[in-house]
Amino acid sequence: MTKVVVVGGGLSGCGAAVAAKKAGAEVTLVERTDMLIGVAVRAGETNGNGWLVGQHELRFLGGGELFDTLASVKLHDHVPFPDAAKHGYLYDAGRAEPAIRKTVEQSGVKVIMEIRVVDVVKENGRLRAVKLEDGRLIEGDAFVDCTGTRGGIAVCNKYGKGCVMCLVRCFAYGDRVGVVEKAGGKTASRVRPDGTPGMLSSAVTLFKDTLAPELKARIEKEGLVIVPLPKELVDYDRMKIMGGQRSRDFVENIILADIGPVAKCFGLVYMEQDNFRKVPGFENVQVEDPRASKWNHIGHIGIASRDISLKVKGFENLFCAGEKSGQTSVDGVIITGYLAGHNAARQAFGVEQPLVLPRSLAIGDFMAFVTEKLETGEALKGVYRMARGEYWERMQKIGLYTEDVARVKARVAEAGLSGVLARPVK
Ligand SMILES: Cc1cc2nc3c(=O)[nH]c(=O)nc-3n(C[C@H](O)[C@H](O)[C@H](O)COP(=O)(O)OP(=O)(O)OC[C@H]3O[C@@H](n4cnc5c(N)ncnc54)[C@H](O)[C@@H]3O)c2cc1C
Repeated sequence: MTKVVVVGGGLSGCGAAVAAKKAGAEVTLVERTDMLIGVAVRAGETNGNGWLVGQHELRFLGGGELFDTLASVKLHDHVPFPDAAKHGYLYDAGRAEPAIRKTVEQSGVKVIMEIRVVDVVKENGRLRAVKLEDGRLIEGDAFVDCTGTRGGIAVCNKYGKGCVMCLVRCFAYGDRVGVVEKAGGKTASRVRPDGTPGMLSSAVTLFKDTLAPELKARIEKEGLVIVPLPKELVDYDRMKIMGGQRSRDFVENIILADIGPVAKCFGLVYMEQDNFRKVPGFENVQVEDPRASKWNHIGHIGIASRDISLKVKGFENLFCAGEKSGQTSVDGVIITGYLAGHNAARQAFGVEQPLVLPRSLAIGDFMAFVTEKLETGEALKGVYRMARGEYWERMQKIGLYTEDVARVKARVAEAGLSGVLARPVK
């Protein structure tokens, strides 16, 4: 049987595993913690602006399961985020993990959890196996590194404000270990404007019951509430720390959203609990974990050098997806996950040509655009998404953005690619 091994069970790894399985491979997914979906357990926002097109394209290409699963735990629709105001929705970050796990397991993927991959076995530019912490080897014909770019402890201590028990959970399960690094592949990190490697995560989560009752009721009803910060708490340095990922609105206000188990302040980077308590409605607030108060974890460390098919440079059968491939956001990591998993299966089955989508499709143009920016090093200074910023501007300008789902379907059909991700590759 032809085998694909996916390392890292965040949303990119889940996408890669499902896609490789649909392409006909026997698939093993290894996740170091007790949960799938990685940092998306505290994400929530999806489908905003251009991602609508990306999500529908992936569906028409034959790979919609994970987006459909997130939609099945939708909490609030058409959430008016200041910088991604069109058709974004919030999913329930509590119910998303079990729902996605079910989708992955029902697709026939073998999931191994609570153990890390710590090494690789290589032979002439090919990976033969990955090695687990307990010494077991998992052999494969192709591999996908979906280990993300967050943490571990030493990185957070060196480049951040420090490290405590955050959602990356290194203390409980051990640091992230990248397959690409272990195989000797090249990686790079994003840098903040002052040259410091890595970016701070841009979310603070609060226990909903510790908000003033009227504020809690409002976010649960409306999904999103914008609370102006008193002038003395506005800190524009937060924008610099974050690397310009969000607009000024996100440092001048608390952009508070309901993501199910907790309320999330989008884009704030961090704010001390005592400072939150100076804001009306937040007098008794408790932050969910200390990372949001004084500490935080670092992301965008260890992005793999890869080509447009998501194959890691220097290796015949090693692919990457998600943040590891230079992407960020729920939508972007799922999309790269499907493409990398499908191409890993093609490689494993000996299909010569990888699937590279044409620029007539939004995903094809986006992949080419981001890959070029990675080649020039520009992508190490900023992030590209269909929801905001430079790429969102571009897709509107060149006519790739549309709310007309039938048009998206027709474009995929015109490219001759309808359902390509849903069929066995051989
Ligand atoms: C706090 C926060 C809030 C966010 N909010 C949003 C949002 O609202 N909307 C949005 O679009 N994006 C959001 N993002 C970004 C988005 O959630 C991430 O870009 C995306 O989920 C990352 O997915 P990934 O699969 O690439 O990596 P990860 O989610 O980091 O997954 C990597 C997985 O690999 C595992 N792993 C690592 N090393 C090993 C190993 N050696 N062996 C086995 N397993 C290993 C890890 O345990 C982890 O589960 C947010 C990010 C953060 C951190």
